[in-house]
Amino acid sequence: MYITGSLNQQQQDQIAGLLQQRSATQPCPRCRYSQFAILGSTGRIQLTGPVQVTGQPNVLTTGLDVVLAVCTNCGFVSQHAISILDREG
Ligand SMILES: [Zn+2]
Repeated sequence: MYITGSLNQQQQDQIAGLLQQRSATQPCPRCRYSQFAILGSTGRIQLTGPVQVTGQPNVLTTGLDVVLAVCTNCGFVSQHAISILDREG
């Protein structure tokens, strides 16, 4: 799956499932609450230099696409690189 832009509820649930599969299940580092919401849109971190796109050795980018998980208690935001979440296994 390549995900970017708006995320419907099914895609948000799929991302939450991927994070669970990868054991990204620790509580919020700020308030220790255990519930996070996946935002309904992806983000892009602007980098100051080019990096290789995961799995595509000849492709460079200066933008890192991320999904955002927000603590539903304190609002702490964590970001997960889509290029890593998309990877099989
Ligand atoms: Zn929190």
